[in-house]
Amino acid sequence: MSSRAIVTLNGVTKTYGHFTALHETDLEVGEGEFVTLLGPSGCGKTTTLRLIGGFEYANSGIVSIAGQDVTAAPPFRRPVNTVFQDYALFPHMTVAQNIAYGLSVKGAAVASGERKKRVEEALAMVGLETMGNRVPAALSGGQRQRVAMARAIVRRPRVLLLDEPLSALDVKLREGMQVELKRLHRELGITFLMVTHDQAEALALSDRIVVMNQGKIVQIGAPTELYDNPSTPYVADFIGASNLVPARYEARDGDCDMLRLSNGTLLRRTGKHHDSAVKGTITAGIRPERIRLDVFDGANTMEARIVETLFHGDRMRLELALAGDAARIFADIPRVAGTSRQLEPGAVISLHVDPADVMLFAPEPSA
Ligand code: ADP
Ligand code: MG
Repeated sequence: MSSRAIVTLNGVTKTYGHFTALHETDLEVGEGEFVTLLGPSGCGKTTTLRLIGGFEYANSGIVSIAGQDVTAAPPFRRPVNTVFQDYALFPHMTVAQNIAYGLSVKGAAVASGERKKRVEEALAMVGLETMGNRVPAALSGGQRQRVAMARAIVRRPRVLLLDEPLSALDVKLREGMQVELKRLHRELGITFLMVTHDQAEALALSDRIVVMNQGKIVQIGAPTELYDNPSTPYVADFIGASNLVPARYEARDGDCDMLRLSNGTLLRRTGKHHDSAVKGTITAGIRPERIRLDVFDGANTMEARIVETLFHGDRMRLELALAGDAARIFADIPRVAGTSRQLEPGAVISLHVDPADVMLFAPEPSA
C-alpha cells in the first residue's frame, strides 16, 4: 500500500456467541484506494464491513478511520457511508427525496439550499439528472442501484463501503455498472471498500484485493500479484482457476525445482524460488490457460487423453486424464480459426507447460 492509511484494523476479533466470524485481523486501506474483500459466502466479509461502518462492535482489537480510534463510535461519528446489499429505497419517496434522506440522518444535517445542490450533484454523478422526480417503481434495476449509490455519496464520506452492490443485477447490467463504479471512484477521489464473492469483479475493479477464508485474511495484493503469485492453493484456485496436483519435491537442479507429480511425471519449475525448507509432499499448481498443445521442446511435455470437451466461445475447455493417473486436469485452449485439429473425447494429445508457469505450494503449517 503506497498511500496513507485511512482505515486500519488492528487485531480485530468479532464473535457471535461461540462462533468467531473474524479472527484477530489486521488490515490497512490506503486513502483513495479501491479495495475489495473477496471470499466465499460466510467468510466474514460483511462482518468486516459492518465493523468499519459501526454497525457491529469488535470483541477485541482497534478500528481506526482517518487517524481516529472509532472502535466504539456509532456510525454517524464515522466519515464513512455504506451501500447495503439490499439497498432498499423508500417506495413512496421520489428519487431526489430518497437521496436527500441521506442528508437528514443524524450527524449529516445540512441547510436546505445546500441540500438541493448536493442532491443535484449526486444525481449527476450517477447519470440520473433527469430522474429526480420519479418514484423507484418507475426505474430499472440498474437505475435503482444508481440511486442507492447517490444516496450514499451525497454525504460526501471519505470512505464508501459497498456490500455486494451489484449482486442483484443480471450479468450484462453488472458489467456495465462495474465500469460505472470505476469511473465514480476516480471522479470522487475517495476510498472505496467493496465486498464481493465474484473474483472476476474483484480482479476487474480493485487496486488491491483482500482474499478471505473462514474469518481470516489469506492474502492481500494487487490483482496481478494475486494471479501471478498466489500464496496458497486456495488463492490459486479462487483467483482465476488452477489445477492442483499432489506432488513430491525431488531436488533442486540449477535454477529449477524438480517436482514429481502423482502419476510419475517429472515437472521442472523455475521462477521465484520458494522457501528452501520445502521437502516431501507438496502441491503443484498449473493454470488451465497456461497449458499448451503441440509444443515439443522436451521439458514438461506429457501425454493426456481427452475426457470431455466444453465449448466456451473463444476457447475450448478440455477435461484431461494424465497418463497413469486417475486425477483429472483442465486445459483452456484458444480456438484458432481454421484449425483442423480434432479435439474430441478419447483423443490422446501431448501437452506442455512452461517451467515458469508451474506453481509450487508447500503444505501450510497447521495452526
Ligand atoms: P459474508 O459476508 O462473507 O458472506 P458474514 O460476514 O455475513 O459473511 O458472516 C460471517 C459468519 O458470521 C457467517 O457464518 C454468519 O452466519 C455469521 N454471522 C454473521 N452475522 C451474524 C449474527 N448477527 N449472528 C450470528 N452469526 C452471524
Ligand atoms: Mg455478506
